[in-house]
Amino acid sequence: MPDCLFCRMVAGEVPADVVHRTDRVLAFRDINPQAPTHVLVIPRDHHPTAAALATADPGLLAEVVTAANTVARQEGLVTDDGTQPGYRLVTNTGPGAGQSVDHLHFHLLGGRGLGWPPG
Ligand code: AMP
Ligand code: ZN
Repeated sequence: MPDCLFCRMVAGEVPADVVHRTDRVLAFRDINPQAPTHVLVIPRDHHPTAAALATADPGLLAEVVTAANTVARQEGLVTDDGTQPGYRLVTNTGPGAGQSVDHLHFHLLGGRGLGWPPG
């Protein structure tokens, strides 16, 4: 996927503010944060959407979600002390929903009140 921005970030060709990595998952801060915590969590392999990854490699989809929760814990959004600030994990799918990068990414958002329904 030579023209994929996130593949280039995985390859180290484009800088990323990495907050967590595993052998198959990368998490880095969004360049245009919409909340105090705004981290993108992606599989290193290129898959366009969550549904595509669920079909191709459901175990990897689970690893991405687990990595997101690990980052949320690092960011103080998941705690053991009874306070649960919480977080939102969303993936825009298709241009009508705002997907601008065709490589699956979950937005991990937290650190402020998050309204519902979202815009
Ligand atoms: P989406 O619009 O849901 O596809 O999300 C793409 C996200 O990628 C946006 O929130 C952008 O701010 C973010 N983004 C674009 N380029 C970079 C970059 N070089 N580093 C970090 N985040 C980026
Ligand atoms: Zn890619």
